Order: sequence, then structure tokens, then C-alpha cells
Amino acid sequence: MAADLEAEVQAIDKSLLECSAEEIAVKWLQANDLQKEVYQHLAYYVPKIYCRGPNPAPQREDMLAQHVLLGPMEWYLCGEDPAFGFPKLEQANKPSHLCGHVFKVGEPTYSCRDCAVDPTCVLCMECFLGSIHREHRYRMTTSGGGGFCDCGDTEAWKEGPYCQKHELNASETAEEEDPLVQLPEDMVARAYNIFAIAFKYAVDILTWEKENELPGLEMIEKSDTYYCMLFNDEVHTYEQVIYTLQKAVNCTQKEAVGFATTVDRDGRRSVRYGDFQYCDQAKSVIVRNTSRQTKPLKVQVMHSSIVAHQSFGLKLLTWLGSVIGYSDGLRRILCQVGLQEGPDGENSSLVDKLMLYDSKLWKGARNVYHQLFMSSLLMDLKYKKLFAIRFARNYERLQSDFMKDDHDRELSIADLSIQIFTVPSLARMLITEENLMTTIIKTFMDHLRHRDIQGRFQFERYTALQAFKFRRVQSLILDLKYVLISKPTEWSDDLRHKFLEGFDAFLELLKCMQGMDPITRQVGQHIEMEPEWEAAFTLQMKLTLVISMMQDWCALDEKVLIEAYKKCLAVLMQCHSGFTDGEQPIVLSMCGHSVETIRYCVSQEKVSIHLPVSRLLAGLHVLLSKTEVAYKFPELLPLSELSPPMLIEHPLRCLVLCAQVHAGMWRRNGFSLVNQIYYYHNVKCRREMFDKDIVMLQTGVSMMDPNHFLMIMLSRFELDQIFSTPDYGKRFSTENTNKDVVQQNNTLIEEMLYLVIMIVGERFSPGIGQVNATDEIKREIIHQLSIRPMAHSELVKALPEDENRETGMESVIEEVACFKKPGLTGRGLYELKPECAKNFNLYFYHFSRAEQSKAEEAQRKLKRQNREDTALPPPALPPFCPLFASLVNILQSDVMLCIMGTILQWAVEHNGYAWSEAMLQRVLHLIGMALQEEKHHLENLTEENVVTFSFTQKISRPGEAPNNSPSILAMLETLQNAPHLEVHKDMIRWILKTFNTIKKLRENSSTTPVAETEGNIMEEVKSSRDKDKAERKRKAEIARLRREKIMAQMSEMQRHFINENKELFQQTLEELDTSSSGVHENSPVISDAKLTALGPEQTRVAEHRQVVMCILCQEEQEVKVDSRAMVLAAFIQRSTVLSKNRNKAIPDPEKYDPLFMHPDLSCGTHTGSCGHIMHAHCWQRYFDAVQAKEQRRQQRLRVHTSYDVENGEFLCPLCECLSNTVIPLLPPPRIFSNRLDMSGQPNLAQWIKTVSQQTKALYLLRDEGCASSSGNSEKMDQLQLPEGFRPDFKPKNPYSESIKEMLTTFGTATYKVGLKVHPNEEDPRVPIMCWGSCAYTIQTIERILADDDKLLFGNLPCRQDDCLTSLTRFAAAHWTVSSLSAVQGHFCTLLASLVPNEKNGNVPCILDIDMFHLLVSLVLSFPAIHCQDFSGVSLGTGDLHLFHLVTMAHIIQILLTSSTEENGMDQENANSEEEVAVLTLYKFLCQCTGSALKEISSGWHLWRNLKAGIMPFLRCSALFFHYLNGVPAPSEVQVSGTNQFEHLCSYLSLPNNLTCLFQENSEIMNTLIESWCSNNEVKRYLEGKRHAISYARESNKLIDLPDDYSCLINQASNFSCPKSGGDKSRAPTLCLVCGTMLCSQSYCCQTELEGEDVGACTAHTYTCGSGVGIFLRVRECQVLFLAGKTKGCFYPPPYLDDYGETDQGLRRGNPLHLCKERFKKIQKLWQQHSITEEIGHAQEANQTLSGIDWQHL
Ligand SMILES: [Zn+2]
Ligand SMILES: [Zn+2]
Ligand SMILES: [Zn+2]
Ligand SMILES: [Zn+2]
Ligand SMILES: [Zn+2]
Ligand SMILES: [Zn+2]
Ligand SMILES: [Zn+2]
Repeated sequence: MAADLEAEVQAIDKSLLECSAEEIAVKWLQANDLQKEVYQHLAYYVPKIYCRGPNPAPQREDMLAQHVLLGPMEWYLCGEDPAFGFPKLEQANKPSHLCGHVFKVGEPTYSCRDCAVDPTCVLCMECFLGSIHREHRYRMTTSGGGGFCDCGDTEAWKEGPYCQKHELNASETAEEEDPLVQLPEDMVARAYNIFAIAFKYAVDILTWEKENELPGLEMIEKSDTYYCMLFNDEVHTYEQVIYTLQKAVNCTQKEAVGFATTVDRDGRRSVRYGDFQYCDQAKSVIVRNTSRQTKPLKVQVMHSSIVAHQSFGLKLLTWLGSVIGYSDGLRRILCQVGLQEGPDGENSSLVDKLMLYDSKLWKGARNVYHQLFMSSLLMDLKYKKLFAIRFARNYERLQSDFMKDDHDRELSIADLSIQIFTVPSLARMLITEENLMTTIIKTFMDHLRHRDIQGRFQFERYTALQAFKFRRVQSLILDLKYVLISKPTEWSDDLRHKFLEGFDAFLELLKCMQGMDPITRQVGQHIEMEPEWEAAFTLQMKLTLVISMMQDWCALDEKVLIEAYKKCLAVLMQCHSGFTDGEQPIVLSMCGHSVETIRYCVSQEKVSIHLPVSRLLAGLHVLLSKTEVAYKFPELLPLSELSPPMLIEHPLRCLVLCAQVHAGMWRRNGFSLVNQIYYYHNVKCRREMFDKDIVMLQTGVSMMDPNHFLMIMLSRFELDQIFSTPDYGKRFSTENTNKDVVQQNNTLIEEMLYLVIMIVGERFSPGIGQVNATDEIKREIIHQLSIRPMAHSELVKALPEDENRETGMESVIEEVACFKKPGLTGRGLYELKPECAKNFNLYFYHFSRAEQSKAEEAQRKLKRQNREDTALPPPALPPFCPLFASLVNILQSDVMLCIMGTILQWAVEHNGYAWSEAMLQRVLHLIGMALQEEKHHLENLTEENVVTFSFTQKISRPGEAPNNSPSILAMLETLQNAPHLEVHKDMIRWILKTFNTIKKLRENSSTTPVAETEGNIMEEVKSSRDKDKAERKRKAEIARLRREKIMAQMSEMQRHFINENKELFQQTLEELDTSSSGVHENSPVISDAKLTALGPEQTRVAEHRQVVMCILCQEEQEVKVDSRAMVLAAFIQRSTVLSKNRNKAIPDPEKYDPLFMHPDLSCGTHTGSCGHIMHAHCWQRYFDAVQAKEQRRQQRLRVHTSYDVENGEFLCPLCECLSNTVIPLLPPPRIFSNRLDMSGQPNLAQWIKTVSQQTKALYLLRDEGCASSSGNSEKMDQLQLPEGFRPDFKPKNPYSESIKEMLTTFGTATYKVGLKVHPNEEDPRVPIMCWGSCAYTIQTIERILADDDKLLFGNLPCRQDDCLTSLTRFAAAHWTVSSLSAVQGHFCTLLASLVPNEKNGNVPCILDIDMFHLLVSLVLSFPAIHCQDFSGVSLGTGDLHLFHLVTMAHIIQILLTSSTEENGMDQENANSEEEVAVLTLYKFLCQCTGSALKEISSGWHLWRNLKAGIMPFLRCSALFFHYLNGVPAPSEVQVSGTNQFEHLCSYLSLPNNLTCLFQENSEIMNTLIESWCSNNEVKRYLEGKRHAISYARESNKLIDLPDDYSCLINQASNFSCPKSGGDKSRAPTLCLVCGTMLCSQSYCCQTELEGEDVGACTAHTYTCGSGVGIFLRVRECQVLFLAGKTKGCFYPPPYLDDYGETDQGLRRGNPLHLCKERFKKIQKLWQQHSITEEIGHAQEANQTLSGIDWQHL
């Protein structure tokens, strides 16, 4: 790179370098016509610097531009060397107290929920951390780029507008002084001059449209060099562009990707450079290729000097932005220059010109000038206002441009509205001075042109393009929201006037929505096409907040409210003009009342869900009550003009529509209607839809005779006939009527009753009932939590948000709910406080049907648990406000009583089906409500008022003639004992009790004491009876609970059938185990005294009959050498979990020799198992079936599965655990002749000597075997074969055929996966891989146990225990199916690393060998030699000597690499025996190494180090020999204690003082140590020339994560893509294993891996995790697991908010903190090698996961 740059510099025209900035500036200072001078300079030099070839050379261009072009300007501006001038300016500047930091994409931003004026007010991280808000409730989001920090803006914050840093400046600049005062006068003049010229030049060139000419610049040399410039659009995809470019300009795919990436980023890029024709040709190819379906890509052939000047123009704007950073004075000058009107009058300032040209500019140019606007105009308080005016005046034009533009809104100048309109003072000023509200609404209306004949919006033909435009139009609603978001505290007449003008415009808008999308019930045939409905609802949804805010504004000023009410009413009347036209008035009569209405049937005529004008009026009506305007100025209100029947008509139709839909009458109208009804009630819309319709009905009832209302309502429900005809019900039940119709009518009656309940009961909005806003929100929460305990986010979703995205929940939640913290999974939950249950209303109007029934069930259950009766009576309600007070009379109106009576009558007679229990339940609820009402009236009785509510009296009266029906009360008493109404008994009892209470209240004064005692006696009798009953009930309850529990258990069992079975199988295994060992109980072999795991003194283990069951065929079988093979499902994977060196290059698998494991353990092979056992043949059959099925499936569906059959993967048939092979189950592989007599056995030196002779013999034999196959016996004699050694002996394989086959299968699988090669069972590396996997797996398990501070034995789950047993026994048996000579060869080489011989010179030095791997390989390959040894030396002796030898080598290894620091820690005074011995050994080592070792005099330290260093090895060895030989672990090792080391030594047949080993075997050991130390590598290490691993190796952990998640966001926002030169990465992703940040999911960072393009994460897993990766996607706050190229899943992040919830996708923005336990859990998954398994389970559970292209992440 540096060399390239040098070459480039060489190539630069010398004349450019000779330019002197100072001289040019002097010339300019003297010039008469400065502009001409400067333009000439630019005209000459710019084309010489920019655009000199096909590719941009930014470094060279920047350097030269600074030198030749910008330098002179800086000199001119400063009047001196800018190197001095600028710092001077900076110093003199009194910096602004505004932060103004412009956000990068992905940078964290903070908003204070307590203090921010609106949610758009944000702080940068630095300001936030220095502000008071960090202690408040804040919200954190990531910026989409653009926008700036509002620190220092006093209008943005209710409190604490400054952070610590910006506060310092606040006091000084408080008095608004002109920043120009700070600058010398001549500089002011110069700045004006140069800014004006530079700014104009940039604007002119950027907005220039001619292709061959320049604005005011002569072309010096008109060369024939052109660019073919490709522009960005949002229509074509990346792939299309890349494909087209490859064709059009003949470039490679890589180049095309590069072009496309730049076009996408900067908005344009030249794709060809040359003469005009050459470029034009490319252009036409591109246009031709992309014009087929859509409009073609934009391409332009441009002259190179135009491109050059445009490049410099942008550079100049950036330069202006940085120069004004030196001084607020300069900034003001630039603002003045920019806003100065040009000669052409209106819109001729430079700023106007740019704004109006915005949609024609490419991305890169827009970004540059938007940034300049933000750092200049928006940072200067005076000019911000002037700019705001310009912006508002151009608003309509800018928005229209934006509608036509295809770029995102963030890239449009229109987006600056958020910066301007959200400033309260500016917004207010723009409303009053520029009539902004009206402008926005009118612009909006202009862009929604589709209307029907009545002038209403019509979105019928709703195409994709329209949808696109419609989305753009919606951003105008957002602007309106910004303008309204801060509400005025003072009103001027001007503001009132302009607001009401805006309100008028708004009403016009709503008028176009009133009645839109009308629908008619479809009868007969189903509708053919679902009508368009989404657009209308989107509009409604987007406007919901604005409608609410309009009302909020109105509520603030009485005059405005009165005017708005009048206007709204007038518009509603207009909408309803012709309301009664052409309709026949009809007269309804019932119970002696009659009312006139129109003939209208919802089920037959048009009806619309959209009634925003009616609903706005309802909202304003409530405000009249809430603000008491209705009582203060009744004369100013048009209340007399109100016609209640007109007001209620349309909302009532809408509610009836819902009821009919529910009754199934609109089935043929399709799903669009169902969806509309859903949204009508949904939390996003209901506030300005459903809720307001209820309010409108309440308004209507409060103003009219309730009997009239009810009659109209019955008529709209088409039920009036039923209730006005006395015997209707009876007739229905007897007549042979259509069942469907009966059902329909029943539902309609239920719905109608429900509506009455809502009208009377819903009085929790301030203004309707005497409540405040807190009561309303409390009630919502209580009802949500009545359904079930909920998480914070669920509650938030269920509650409506205001314009500040607040629900008001936090302020009340503590009063109604208790918080329960989450565990390791799940989330924190809020639970309803028991005392709040009494507020539960079964007919709460925001319940969906499902919620209602769940809540009912939950509440009844709760009551049963508390041993209460299960009645759910209506709760006591707050009183209505006076304006609505009269509506309670509906409950005691004649028509209502008639309805109640009729239904009760049906229930009493109950023999027909023309009634339903739901109906009765609602009637009972209504009666309950009426009683509550009456009780409340009586209790709040004052002297003056009389109680007019006399429900109790009315229901005690029997019906009048001619029916002579019994009274309601009498019917209730009858029903109380009706056997068919068991469920409602509690409720009826409650009603009767309340009735009596009221009666008592009424007769209060007349009660006599006698009656009371009588009552008491009665009470007592009753109570004893109650007790009896209660006891019975309690018993029944207990029985029921038990039953429920059993049922629950059963269903649980069914659900977890598999898991249950797992345990079951485990159990049988254990039972068999114990029973079989019981047989051997009396054999005295296992004594508790001393257990030894290996060697001649190994404790004898009883032969264990092991019987297991196949999960597939359920047959039992014993595990024996000669029986059919049983296998365990297993999963083998490569692993880097223990790696101490992640940068190690992956060796070529074909040539790699795995015999010696390097102690950095950089890549191992791990084997895991779910522990499920099958017959080998059952498994084979199962696997074949899976394979066949997969092949069929792939052909048919071409879908990925969670497992890769071609790679041998399958799911365990029982637990669906991912597996890729099976391990055979084997009996213990070694049967020992039990020699108690040690004397015959050789000592270590003798043994080594014998084995060395044997290996030597084998070498010779092999050499001979190669040379000639004859004459063996002769050579043997020469060899002096050691006694009893018979190398010609071929041992017999003891295993059955099927076991042998499985040994090979598993061995080959280990080899294939471990080395990533094709399977080859003949390869001599197969046994090595098997031993290696055994060693590595034991090591990982030892680490997991150590990290958890768990004991070595007795803590492993069964599945791991089984897996290790099988794995170790398998590895020990594998040599029987390998080539004997190959295994013997391995043994010889392995041994040579410790006992050198002349044949194996090329073995690694002891520093480069992992001793545990060496031990396992040696011990497991040794039988291959020992089987030919008939000298009587036992295998156990060999094991013991090998173990001792390796242990000693490890001790030397530890001592050589130990970095013992002799710190001043307390040492015990008396040196122990061990310390003395180890010091002696160390001294000997020093001697051997020629004193290259550090001098250490403290035996205490050495011994401590040695013990710590060797512990993991000893623990691994103990596990290994335990699983190999089956000797149980001594009980001492199974309890924690300080003597673990001693017990381990004893179990492993080692002396406690390890160095004794050396003393005992000094004759041979001294020689060996000398030979080890004389190795060259050891010497190099001791000379400090190389590194070596030291012991004990620490366990690997995942990286440390910060507590505060925003630190990570910040870190990621500073991270730029490593491949595209400083660009911000879109999906920064953190590797949790090594901490590398990656640029994921992006074209720029794709690399090729095994012939496929993969994303950065997948590529990283191959080097960092050998295919497995754990990442944190920082922007999404999501953990990503990857395995291989096709597998992956997302996993919940370890970050939780205060409510115990994660925030995947960072949507909620609550502060997030690290949950250490959850992070540990992820770490554990990694350490246990369960990532792949986890992915498998996730993919099985969620099929869509396997469709994701994981490799591109
Ligand atoms: Zn800031
Ligand atoms: Zn600040
Ligand atoms: Zn705050
Ligand atoms: Zn079987
Ligand atoms: Zn399993
Ligand atoms: Zn990594
Ligand atoms: Zn990248």
C-alpha cells in the first residue's frame, strides 16, 4: 500500500506540487474580482487533480486538493498560515453549549423517559454518562444514522438539559450575544467572500444538469474522457446489478460486487472510463438489461471534468463544515451566506437551491450537504429559526419531491422535519406564522387522491406502487405528530386562530374517512375477492395518536374546546345530511313506551367501521365534562342542537355489525371483515374506535329516555320482535325452527346484553366517571393480570401507548402487582395482588373472547383455592360525572326490566333451547350491577337528595296483567334451587344476599333489636350448617385437587413421554446393575481399605453381568464379547474448546500426523452421547430407513433438515439428539491374571530394557520383512529375541463379528470427522484418532468438573458416565481390528519420545507433547506388543510402568516450564520431605540444562507449583484408569476434603511424594532426564528463543462481557468493516470465544471456503472454533450459534432488563445488563460441546430455522 502511494506521488504533475498556497492567497487578496480569480484557479486545477483514471484515488486526490485547492482558501481566510490561524480562532471561540454530535449508524442513543420533552430528544453516550438522566428511567436505542445529540437544548429537556461537559459553557453563553463580535472585522469580510464563492461553486456544480458544459468555468482542455456513471435505485437488487455489470462492462464478479457495493453506499459509481462512445455503449447495455420488468437502472455518461468538479464540490462542502467548527462566528457567517436571497428572489438562496434539488442528488452528495446543514443551520439558534421558515415555506414542494423519489426517508431533506418540528418554540412559531398545521394536512390530502363519489377515500385498487407511495405519504402524519407533540401552556389569539384553522383542515380529512370502505352483508354466495381494507386501517392506525393529541390540545383551552366542539358537530351533521332521507320513519313500542326511528337493518344495508368524526365528537364531549366547560358555559354550547338518535346511530350500527359477525351472520364476507373487526378492538386502534363508540352510546343514553334507547338498540340488533312478543321464546322452542337461527339469535341477545353492561360499567375514563388517569391504567393492568401473570413487555403490549411511547404503567404497577424474578430461563413476571381481585370485572370491555374465558377460569380457580364461593359479581364502580349521571337509569328502565324478566322466565321454564346460560349469566351480572348501584346510592345518601334508584323495589313487583308473570326476585329464588343451573348458584346467592343488605339499608331505622337476635340465631344455625357444608366442600375440593394433579401429571407424562422413558430405561439399567452385583456380594474382592486403579496391585473387580435394553426393539441383551453388538448413539466433533492457540494454521489433513498431541490442544476430537442404547442391527435398519426417507424428502421438497444424512448424521430415535455414529458397548477389555506376588515382575529399568529389546526386534523384523521374506528364524537368533517374545504370534480376536464391525464403524467415523478426510478404515491413523478422542474427551470432562469445583467421581450424569465407559473400552479394544504392525509401530514411536532409540530420531521434544494424550496412546497400544510376550510379565505391570514413566516426564515438563515467582509468601519453616526432594530434583535439572534454568531456592514454592501443575493430569489419569479397568473410586475421592491429592496418588499407585519415583528409578531416570534436556528444542526454549506451554493450563472461558449493554453497542458502532475501507459494518458481530468483531451478513466480507462463498462468521468459525461458533449480534442483541455451513440458530442473549426480560432486536430499548448466570449457561453449553446439539433441537422445534442461509452470516 505504501509502495503504491509512493508510485502515485511520483506520477503527479510536478507543477501541482510546486503550487504555493500562500502566493495564491496573496494574489486573491489583491484581486478585484475574487470570484473570477478563484473560478479560474479551480477551472484549471480541479480536472488536474480529480478523475484522472478509471478508479478514484482518494488518498492522492485528498492530498493534492488540500495542497492546491483548499490550502489557498485557508490562507486567504486566516490571512496567515492556517496552522496558526485556526488554533487561534478555536481558542478565541466561546463554544456552543449544544453538543450537536451527529450520530453514526448503529451508535447508541439515550432518551430519558422522565425528562425528555418527546422521544425524539436523545443524547449521545458521552453526554448521557455525564448527565443526571443516567439515574432516571431511560431508554436506549441504536441510531439509524443522521440526527444529533440534543444535549444543551433547553427546549428538549424538562430537567437537566446539560451534561457535565456542556454545562461549563452554558453559563457564559447564556446571554445571547452575536458570535461575530469575537472575530476581527477584516476576517469577517474575508470569510464572507470566500464562503460565498465556495458555497456557490459547490451548489452550482452539484445542481448542474448539462453534460458537456460547466457553470461559469471554462473548460481548459476539452479532452475526450468520459465516465459511465451508474446510480443507485431502490428497485433493483444487488444480484441484478452485479449480474448486469458483469455483462455490460466485462468485469469479474468481484469487481462487479465492488461497484455494486459502492453504488449502494455512495449512490453512484463510475463503472467505465474512456471516450464517449465506449461509455455510451456500456450505458445502453445496462439500460437494455435492466428495463425488462421495471424502470431501468439510472446510468449517465458524464464528462470527466464535470465529475471532477462535482467531487471537489463535495469536498468543499465537507471543508466548510470543518472550518466552521473552529468558530461560532464563522458558522454564523456561513449561515448568512447560505440563506442570503440571490438575485432571483424567492427560493434563490443557496440553501433553498440545494433543498429543492435534493431528490435529484445521489446519496453521497445528500449525506454531505445534510451534514453541513446540521452542523451549521441547526446549531445556530438564530438561523435555525430562519431555516425553519424556509423549510416550512418549501414544505409542500419538498414533500412532493420526496413522494416521487425512491430513496429512503433518512436520505431525504424532508427528514429534517424531525429536527425542526420537534423544537416546541419553532413548532409554535411555524404554526402561528406559517400556518404549518394546515399546510401539512393539506399536503397530505393532496397526496391521497383516491375518492369515491361522496368524496370519501377509496383504496380499492391498491397496487404495490400505491402501497409504496402510501407509505411515503404516511410520513406526513409523523410530521403532524411532531408539531403537536409539545402542547402549549399559553394560548395567544393567533395560536387559537391558527390551531382552529388546522383543526378545520383536520376535520376535512376525517370527513373523507367517515364511512369509507362500506360493506354489505353477503348472502348466498361467498364473496369472490377479498376487498381492500388494509390501507384504510393503516391510515386510521397512523392517525390514532394525532386524533388523541388534537383532543389534548383542545382540552387545554376552553375557548378552543368550545369552538372545536361546534366545528366537529357541524361536520358530523354534514356527514349525516340526508340521514333520514328516503327512509320510512317507523314507530317502535314496548312496555307502554314508544319511539320513532328509521327503518334500517345492519344485515341488509351498507355499514362502515370508519367513523372518525363521530368518535372525535365523542372524545370532545367527554372533555366538556372533564374540563367542566359543560357546566361553566352551557349557554355557549350547541347542546340543544344535538339529536341523540343521530349521534348514536352510526356507532350503534358498527357495534351491531361486530355482534352479527360474532353470531356468524357475515361468514360469507371473508377474512377481510374478520381482520377489520379484530383491529377495531385492538390496542393499537381501539382508543379512537371501539372505546369512542361506547362513549358515544353513553352520551346518547345520558341525553335520552333509556327506554327509547333500548328500543332503538333492540331494533338495530333485529331483536325487537323477540322481546315485544311475550311468548316468543316459547314459540321458538316448540316450533320446528331452524337451529342456526336460534343459535344466531341467542348470540345476538348475549351481545346486546354485553353492550348494556359496557355502557353502564365502563366509566373509568376521566370525564365519564369520577376517576383520574391512574385509575384507568390500574384497571387495565388488573384485568390483564387477571388472565395470568405477565411479563413487563406483555403488559406494555396490551396497553395503549401515548405519543411519548408511554403507557403510564410504571407509576401504578407496584400498587396492583408483585414482581417475580426470572430464573435461568424465562422472564420476570408480574402477579396480581390478591386484594385487587375484587376489582375484577368479568365483562371488562377490552377482553377478547379468549381472554375473557381464560380470566373467568383463572379467577374462579383462585376463589376455589381460597375456599370462597365462585361467584364473580360485578365490582363496585365509581360514580359517573354529572354529565353522564342519568345513564344509570337504563338499569331500572321498564324495557330493561322486561328484558331481564323475559330471559329469567326462559331460564325458569328451561325446557326449550331458545335461551342460553351465557344470556342468563349476563342478566345476573346486570342485576348485580343494578344492586351495586342502588347500594352505592343508599350509602352515600345525603340530607338533600332523594334516592331515585329503586331497582330492588321494581324487581320485587310481579308482572302486570295480562301475563301475571312472577317478579324477578321470585324467579331468582326459584332458579336458586334449579338443578340445571348449578354453576350460577353462587352468583344467584350473592344477588339475594345483596338484595337483603339493601333492604336492610332501606329499612335501617325500623329494625328492632328482637329481629336482630332472631337474625343472630338464624345466623348461627346457618353458620353451623355452612360449616358442615364447608367441610364437605373442602373434602370435595381436596379430592378434586388430587384428581387435577393426577390429570396434570398424566398429560405431562404424555407430553414428555420421551423424557420419562429415558428415566425409565435408566432405572432398569440401574436395577439390573444392583441386582447383578448383588450376586457377587460375598466375594471379598472389593475391600474398602485401599482401591488401586492399575498395575499388578490393581483391585480386583467382580465380573459384572451387564444387561441392557434396546430402545428400538425393547429386547434385553447381555453385553458380552461374543454376543450381538449393542451400541450407543454418539456424536463426534472437532473441538477447539481447550485450545491455547487459536491462531494455529490448520494442517493439511491428508498429510497430518496426529500421533503426538501438542500441549496447546489446538484441535481435538470430542465424542459425546445421549446414552441411548440400541442393537447394532436395529440401529442399522433405523439409519437405512432415515436415509431412504431423506432422499425422498430432498427430491420432493428440497429442504434442509437439521441433520445431514449424507454425512452420517441422524437423530437419536428416542431423544432426537443429533448423532453421527455409534459406539459399541463392550465388557471390560482386560482380564487380569490375578498375581498377588510382585516379586516376579520387573522393575521399571528392567521393563524398559525388555520393551526396548522387543521394539528393536520388531524394527529389525520389519526391515527384514521388506528386504526378504525368508530366513526369519535365522535372523531371530541373531537378534537375541528377548525371552518369551514371539513376534510371529498372531493373537485371536475375541469379539463377535458384529462387535468387530462396530469397532471399525466407530473408529472410521472418528477418523473421518477428526481429520476431516474421506473414510478409510485401512489408514494407520485410525487407531491414533480413537485414542486421541478418548484422551481429549476425558480432558474436557475433567475441566468441566474442575471449573464447577465438583469432585471427580459421582458427579457425572449417567449419559456421560456411559459414554466415557464405552469410549474408553472401545479405544482399548480398537487395536484388535487394526493392523497389528501399525499399532506396534505407533507404540514404538510413542515410546521413543521418552526412551530415545536410534530408529526414531524425529520425535517431538517433551515440551511439545501433551502427556495425557501420550499416556492414553501408550497404554492402549501396548497390548499390541504385550500379546506376543509370553515371558509372564503382566499387562498391569506394563500399564504401571508406562504410567510412572509418563508421569515423571510430565514432572520434568512442569519443572522446566514453571515460571515460579519466589514471592514473599509465608513459607512453613520446617521444610517437608517433599520440598527437599523436589529441590534436589530441580538442582539436578539445572545441572542437566547447563544452568540455563532459573535459580530457585524455595522447595516450598516448587512443590506447590508441581502439585498444582500435575493435578489435572492425575485427575484425567484417574478417570481413564477407572473407566478402563472398572475399579470403583475410593470413597475418600468422592467426598471433598483437603487430601484429594494423596487419595488420588494412592488410587493411581503413586507415592505421595512424587519425586520418590525418580529416586526409586534413579539408575535409568538420570540418563533419560539428561537425554530429554539435551534436546535442541528444549535448549532453544531455555535460551528464550521459543515459547512453551506451562502448567497447569487454565480452563478456557468465553470472553468477558461488559455489564452495560450499551458499551457493546458503542464498541460496535466504532467498528468498521475491515474490507471496505472505514465503512461502518451493518451487522457487527462479536465472537464470544475469542472476542473478534466481525462484519457479518454482508457482501463485503464474504470469503471463499471450500469452494463456496461464506459470510464472515462462518469463515471465522473455521479458524476459531473448527466449525462451531458462538457469536453476539450486537445490533440485534441476539446470540448466534453456528455449526458447519448449514446449521445455526439464535439463542437468547445473556442481557436482561430490569424486568428480567431479554430484548432480541433491541425494540423496547430498556437498559440491559449482563446476567452472569445466563452467560455461564451459554459458556457451559460451549464447554460441554453441546452447541451443535442445541442447534439441532432448535431446528427440529422450528422448521423455518433450517431455511436460513446460515453460511452467509
Ligand atoms: Zn452529546
Ligand atoms: Zn453534553
Ligand atoms: Zn431524566
Ligand atoms: Zn434392538
Ligand atoms: Zn438419545
Ligand atoms: Zn473467535
Ligand atoms: Zn464488511
